Amino acid sequence: MRRHLRQNLHNHTVFSDGRFPPARLIEEAMAAGLTALGLSDHAFTRKVFRGGDLASWSETVLPQYLRVAREIRTMGFDDLRVWCGLELDSCLERVGAELSGLPWEQLNQLDYLLLEYVGETDKGGLPFDRLPEIRAWCRIPVILAHPDPDRWEEALPIDRAFAIVRECGAALELPGGTRNAWPWARRDAGLLTGLPLTIGCDTHERIADVGDIDGVLRFLEANSLTGQLTDPDRMAPRWGGNQ
Ligand SMILES: [Zn+2]
Repeated sequence: MRRHLRQNLHNHTVFSDGRFPPARLIEEAMAAGLTALGLSDHAFTRKVFRGGDLASWSETVLPQYLRVAREIRTMGFDDLRVWCGLELDSCLERVGAELSGLPWEQLNQLDYLLLEYVGETDKGGLPFDRLPEIRAWCRIPVILAHPDPDRWEEALPIDRAFAIVRECGAALELPGGTRNAWPWARRDAGLLTGLPLTIGCDTHERIADVGDIDGVLRFLEANSLTGQLTDPDRMAPRWGGNQ
């Protein structure tokens, strides 16, 4: 299995609040010399899909997105591997459903799930002690999007938070691009030892964010973490894999 160092697994398209269609992101990823790209539009949340409800989103937008994901799977893009995931807001109040009420049969057809705001209780995110519950329904790899250890620490000791992530088998995203803050400048990178890591730029409006990963690669190299970079294919066996 190829190790995709030049990866970016966090990008939004016109299916949610991104500016570009999937084809434009793929084109940019190839131009930037990435070997792996992930599309990760927002799953239903009132933050993005104002009005409407989870049930109607599941019957309209989600089937279209799954159709595009299936099409992309059958296409080749030279040296670029493309996965299709979704970014799920872990604030269940904003989503309007409990974990058990999400459309798992459809979500499990994707390649991975980005979960945002886990452990960030001030943003209504899922508390850490509930993170392992996701394994009851989710069969695809879970990556914690733009994790913020400063916020985690407000709710519980930092070592405990990292222990729960390890036990759960989730990967942590390291933010490239310009949208998300870089939390590791004032943190001991030793906290990341042994954890599966991914790179995600959270592309929305700025096409150059797609290939903006070199700072993350330098950080991985400087802290001897490069070997921990993972991807949805590598993570899938632990989660069961998509249907
Ligand atoms: Zn995002």
